[in-house]
Amino acid sequence: MPISDAKPALPTKLPMFEVRSTADIGLGWFATQDIPPDTVIMDEDLMLRLPRSSAACNLKKALSKLAPLEKEAFHSLSGDTDSDKLWQNCHPLIGPADVLGVSERTEVGIYNQCSRINHSCRPNAVRASENDIMSVVSQKGIKTGQQITISYLTDNFQTVKARLHELRSKNEGAPGLASCWDRGCRCEVCTASSEELKADDKRRNTLASLRARFLSEQGHGFETMNTMIKLMNDEGLYLSLMGMPALMKMITVTTHISVHATTPGEVHAATFIVGVRVKLHSLKAKPELNGRDGTVVLAFDAKSGRVGVALDLDSDNEKKLPLSVKPGNLYIPRSLDHRKFS
Ligand SMILES: [Zn+2]
Repeated sequence: MPISDAKPALPTKLPMFEVRSTADIGLGWFATQDIPPDTVIMDEDLMLRLPRSSAACNLKKALSKLAPLEKEAFHSLSGDTDSDKLWQNCHPLIGPADVLGVSERTEVGIYNQCSRINHSCRPNAVRASENDIMSVVSQKGIKTGQQITISYLTDNFQTVKARLHELRSKNEGAPGLASCWDRGCRCEVCTASSEELKADDKRRNTLASLRARFLSEQGHGFETMNTMIKLMNDEGLYLSLMGMPALMKMITVTTHISVHATTPGEVHAATFIVGVRVKLHSLKAKPELNGRDGTVVLAFDAKSGRVGVALDLDSDNEKKLPLSVKPGNLYIPRSLDHRKFS
């Protein structure tokens, strides 16, 4: 059957990316199709699990259990198959554990495909893990041919100097990667003009102070949070970069409530920030909407006392306009897919 006859409703099994050479930083992931935001680009099981404080003998033992193709894939990650230098070659792969995925604090996992994703200080995807499975999820729309990137940083609200310091420190003691950041970070943010870099540093500094302020405002931080969200959009950063669970924790800490309410009405208005998935309940004027799912598109407005919610559309005939809903008519369902945001 010609491709054009394929039913469009069938999910494609084709990989959404290919691994190929970048112009200046080795291999990378490139989109082979347009990828919408919030798409799981890949779920990958780990290739190798090692204790963090591993020794060469552990590595050799672990490698001996791999299938020939996996072994080849592992060696190709370090670009050298000289068995005498095995540990030395592997060390760079284990050293930057955050880059490659950590299954537990005491262990590191090495992933064949996910290990190839490059860093950007303004990434378009995020890593998430559940047990041993590493998922890569798009954060914004990615065009065919565009490189797919994640952030290796623990905190994106840092200046270019601090970011480079963190990136370099991840490779300390890793001979193969020590020189990796010699020329600085090669991402679009860090290679911009000095003027743009200055503006970028300023925005990220502001974001760091806003975050600190939000934490100190003890539950009265709607305005601060809204300003942060706006500034993050300007900067091309997304909430999940801070980690949705981290954000929820911030809100939980400041409001002393559980955000995973099982019964409606327990959740504080501050929880309904843009992007949060919600369910409607107890609406008297439009009871037909009770039980419907949606996404917060306008954060809580103290003046109107309402939150803007875009419903998941049941049909094309439905209006796309956001509904103004009182926080008391919303709750966050427990089924929220947190894996996407971890
Ligand atoms: Zn950068």
